[in-house]
Amino acid sequence: MYLSIVVPCRNEQDAILALIDRLSAALTPWRDQSEIILVDDGSTDDTWETIQDARLLCPFVVGIRLSTNRGHQIALTAGLEAARGARIMMLDADLQDPPELLSDMMRLMDQGYDVVYGRRIERRGDSLFKRATAHVFYRVLNAMSDVAIPQDTGDFRLVNRKTLDAVLAMPERARFIRGMFAWAGFRQIGIEYSRAPRHSGETKYPLRSMIRFAADAMTSFSTKPLRLATRLAFATLGVSAFMAVYVAWSLIFHQAVAGWASVVLAISFFSGVQLLTLGIMGEYIGRLYIEAKNRPLYFVSEELRDTPAARPLRK
Ligand code: UDP
Ligand code: MG
Repeated sequence: MYLSIVVPCRNEQDAILALIDRLSAALTPWRDQSEIILVDDGSTDDTWETIQDARLLCPFVVGIRLSTNRGHQIALTAGLEAARGARIMMLDADLQDPPELLSDMMRLMDQGYDVVYGRRIERRGDSLFKRATAHVFYRVLNAMSDVAIPQDTGDFRLVNRKTLDAVLAMPERARFIRGMFAWAGFRQIGIEYSRAPRHSGETKYPLRSMIRFAADAMTSFSTKPLRLATRLAFATLGVSAFMAVYVAWSLIFHQAVAGWASVVLAISFFSGVQLLTLGIMGEYIGRLYIEAKNRPLYFVSEELRDTPAARPLRK
């Protein structure tokens, strides 16, 4: 059974050797049938040099260097496309996902599951803000989306070749990989784990990236925000009807209609609603535009592996 481990790395110079240490221990039962694919996502520190060092320690490490920073989900895609295994595990470089779970995941897959994903029951390592926003995000996403995306699940999972090929057949640029696996279907099961603190360095998901990630997820897996415009239209029509009754009532009883305050309030309220719906449409249209350009997802500037022209070793 050939096994691939895929790890996207962005400025992870201090974590990589520790990761290789723990991963190669976890890989002992599959020693001669595995590869660890480290994807350098345009790092600005010594990540690439560290990957080269890791190859000296561990010859089954494969290094892939992207031409520039493309983001976590695309770096992960690059690694998945390079993977040759019959089973593929993906995890973060910062050791927040314990590699030791591999043997449990393999056992579940032996029982016939196509995907074994990690569910974070506890996030010791993350700040209160991260935990709270992630909690809200997964619940809102699930309420919005037509696909049941497992809650509190990251990209830490073991998948088989059949499922991976299904996901790699999806050409979209806005990639929310955990959702794409959920959408693919097949037999899936979760395995609970506690998310450790980062090994070293800082999170590469500051608030801005988190918002972009959440917007990608929402727009990729739901068109409900678009329909929000219709609901808002009905709601504002309702409010307007009330106002009309009030105005008519004031006129009939010869009272002065309340002055500019109510007008200003109404105008700002309705323009807020209109701008919001325009903004939501903009999010979708922008993504349509990017998808329509159909550019390659990434470019590889260097690839280090012992058997360069190897064909997939899928069995
Ligand atoms: N990552 C990446 N490219 C990026 C941002 C992050 O390859 O542009 C990698 C990062 O090195 C790590 C994984 O994606 O292995 C998850 O990132 P991080 O740990 O910063 O996210 P968090 O755990 O804080 O959500
Ligand atoms: Mg992390």
